Formats: sequence, structure tokens, C-alpha cells
Amino acid sequence: MKILVLNSGSSSVKFQVFEDDISFVSGLIEQIGEENSAISIILRDEKVVDKQIEIKSHFDGLQIAANYLLELGVVKDLNEFDGIGHRVVHGGEYFNKAMLVTDDVIEKIESLQPLAPLHNPAHLDGIRVTKKLNPLVPNVVVFDTAFHQSIPAHAYMYALPYKFYEEDGVRKYGFHGTSHHFVAKVAARMLQKDINSLNAITLHLGNGGSVTAIENGKSIDTSMGLTPLEGLIMGTRSGDLDPAILFYLSRKKGYDINELDKILNKQSGLKGICGANDMREIHSMAESGDKKAQLALDMFYYRIKKYIGSYSAILGRVDCIVFTGGIGENDDIARLESCHNLENLGIKLNVEENALRKKVAREISSDDSLVKVFVIPTNEELEIALQTQEVVKNSR
Ligand code: AMP
Repeated sequence: MKILVLNSGSSSVKFQVFEDDISFVSGLIEQIGEENSAISIILRDEKVVDKQIEIKSHFDGLQIAANYLLELGVVKDLNEFDGIGHRVVHGGEYFNKAMLVTDDVIEKIESLQPLAPLHNPAHLDGIRVTKKLNPLVPNVVVFDTAFHQSIPAHAYMYALPYKFYEEDGVRKYGFHGTSHHFVAKVAARMLQKDINSLNAITLHLGNGGSVTAIENGKSIDTSMGLTPLEGLIMGTRSGDLDPAILFYLSRKKGYDINELDKILNKQSGLKGICGANDMREIHSMAESGDKKAQLALDMFYYRIKKYIGSYSAILGRVDCIVFTGGIGENDDIARLESCHNLENLGIKLNVEENALRKKVAREISSDDSLVKVFVIPTNEELEIALQTQEVVKNSR
């Protein structure tokens, strides 16, 4: 099946074309509506388009991309795709799996706008454009939150007045679900286990980061919450903190809500502590003796360890821990430090194997480790393509 996968942001659209589970085209439309808007396309590992061009809207951008796909012979007709899979950040409580796009689905995604004000409107723009450009192709929405809809109430509720849940939807939703689900399925295959009997802790560590506790193949808790701000220390996000810090800073410094939002989301995390948010830069700063960089790293590892410990407690039996995302896949020191001294939880790394650089899914735990530790490259676009194929097949 030929599937187009779209990830539409407010000023950019990433796209990828899959033939079954192989991607042979990927592209990026960026700075939509800005002066320096551009499009680039990679076809079978070769950059075939890299152009600054006026792109006023998502429609313009996708129209230009579609013309290139025709010109490059990726498709002969825009209706040739078997399905178009759209990444959607927030599915709220409505969606626990990928869905075929209908008017009702669009209305529900629209109604979730207050929970994802930047993302959901951009995804809807993408859907509206493909409905025009590819009118005969079914659209499918794949939600970042869907995998976490299995989390039980005692884990997703915040201890606030209950009316905020009922009236305003205040609860933990979790994110990165497509990635956690994807790597869990790969881990199950590596353990030769049915996914429905897999207990795992999956760590998606990128610029944004989250941990998920998976019991019998289902998410039962995750570190991100109502928004992606909760949980781990991230590139520029604080993760968990005492909420009273906000009242204190507001009263003492006079910050308003928008300023506090910016501070916690854009100026905190690793960047807030040491001024940098790229792990490679932070490591080299720490190596040259920058104490704040070392502190940022120590805080980062410590928070991950606390989550591994608490999720080991709620799971009881842990078959494996999975590292994924830019940091999880590439940063052997982060993996080593986050698993350091966890032998009491049955977690022991093979230090040599961990230090090797490989781009494939692999085990990095020692032979006597009770819990297997894996590094598994994530592939959210592939997961979206596979789920889209599934939904399209079932709808025929
Ligand atoms: P992502 O958001 O998944 O693309 O991940 C971005 C993060 O991965 C950034 O903090 C990068 O510094 C980090 N990263 C990428 N490559 C490496 C590497 N080789 N070593 C350490 N961190 C890396």
C-alpha cells in the first residue's frame, strides 16, 4: 500500500511516502507564511529538492509538494495514495486508536483545541488541504495521546477539585504515544514475547522527553500530563516541580501567566540550568569544567532514575527498559548514568555494548541483568503509516 504521512505544524509540514513499511521519500515544508519559506525533498537518500520559495499557506506548501511528487514520478496521480496518515497531537478522551477522518472526527479534534492550541488547528489545516488535493484518498488520524488512553483513573487524575476534570478535561493525557507504542512492539519481538504480555518501561529521550510504564502491552502511566510540560527534565521544559513556585514567582517578580508559561516551556530544563539544550554541547561544556553543565546532566539522570524506580514499583515485573529518541538512541553516557546503581531493581548494563554506536535495535544489558535493557531507534512516521494501512484495510 502507498501511504502519505503528514505531520503538520503551525508553520511547517513534514511529509513522508511509504510503500508498505519502506519509506522512499521524505520532505519538509518550512517557515510557511514567513519570508524565508522553503521546501526540501529527499528521494531514496538523495536530496532532489532544496528551494527557497514563497509559501503563503499550508495549501500552497502541500500543493507545491504534490507537484514535485508528480514531477519526480513518486505518484502519477494524487489520488493514487491508498491512504494519508495525519499525526495529531491531542485526541483527548475521544480517541484511543487511529481513526478514519469523518466530519464527526474533525469536530472532535476542533473541540480539543483549548488543550492543544498550537497543534490541533495546524493538523486540521493539513487534513483540509489533503481533502482538496487528494479528494478520493481516505484520511486517517493517528493521535500522540491514543496509546495512553488505557491509563487508569487513579493514575491520570490530579488531586484537584473534581469539577475541573468534568468541566474542563483536566487530567493526564500523556504524549509521544506513537513512539512508546512502536518501540514496545519492537521490544516484544526482540524478547519473542506477545506484546499483550509485555511489561516494559519505555524512555523516549529527545528534546522533549517522557517515560511510560507498559503492563501487558498497554500504557498504565506516563510522565507527561495534561500538557507535555510534566515529568522529565527536558531541553527547555522544567518537568515536575512544586506548582507553588509559580504563585511565589508571580507575587515576588510580578510575572503574568504568559511569562510563566514561556519560562517553564522555553527557558527551563537543561537550558535553564546551564544555558544549552543540546546534549552534545552540554557534555562538552561539562568536560571542560562547566559546573552548571555537570549539574544539569546530574539533574537529568536523577529524574530519569526516579521514574525508573517508581514505574518498577507500579509494574512489579519489568521485562525490559527501552531507550529511544535522539538522546536515548545516541547518548551512551546518559544511558549509563540513568541506569547506574540500579542492580537492586535487576538492571545492569553491559558497559562495552552500551558504548558502541549502532543505528539498529539492540540489547545493552549484561547477561546477568534480570531486566533486559534495549536501545531501539523510534520511527513514529512508520508507525503512523502502519496504523493508517490498518485503518484503511479495515474500512474497505
Ligand atoms: P530528538 O528531539 O529526538 O531529535 O533529540 C534531540 C536531542 O538528541 C538533542 O538534545 C541532541 O543533543 C540529542 N542528540 C542527538 N545526537 C546525539 C549524540 N550523538 N549524543 C548525545 N546526544 C545526542
